[in-house]
Amino acid sequence: MAEVESFTLNHDIVKAPYVRLIAEETGLKGDVIANYDLRFVQPNQQEMPTGVIHTIEHLLADLLRDELPGIIDCSPFGCRTGFHLITWGVYSSTEVAKSLTKVLTKIVNDIEWEDVQGTARQNCGNYRDHSLVGAKEWCRQVIEQGVSDDAFKRQVVE
Ligand SMILES: [Zn+2]
Repeated sequence: MAEVESFTLNHDIVKAPYVRLIAEETGLKGDVIANYDLRFVQPNQQEMPTGVIHTIEHLLADLLRDELPGIIDCSPFGCRTGFHLITWGVYSSTEVAKSLTKVLTKIVNDIEWEDVQGTARQNCGNYRDHSLVGAKEWCRQVIEQGVSDDAFKRQVVE
């Protein structure tokens, strides 16, 4: 059976919202990738509705790429408490937490429905299940609590 790092994390002791560098991995040709846990809400206490996490996914795919060159993928956790982020090269959890805070602030303050990419039927696997209103409210909660660069103690970045 494969050892899956995120299944060994004790979800009872983390303190969301946070960014956690899960792992750096070096491929056969020497390229390094990093994998992060972007935790928006406290596990087993809250979960984002699917329309909310879906719209945030579309927005992060666009806006986070502007902040962090080398993003390979940013995908929701099935438990709906946050996202995986995978990048070429390694950023510190502090850098990622600052970029995430900036992007979430932009979502709350500046983003209109026309700014959300890929929401037409042809471009999305469930185009009817989006909520920008909800996305803004859940992003606002994350910003108000502050994004920590440490999963286990509150160390909120500016
Ligand atoms: Zn979609």
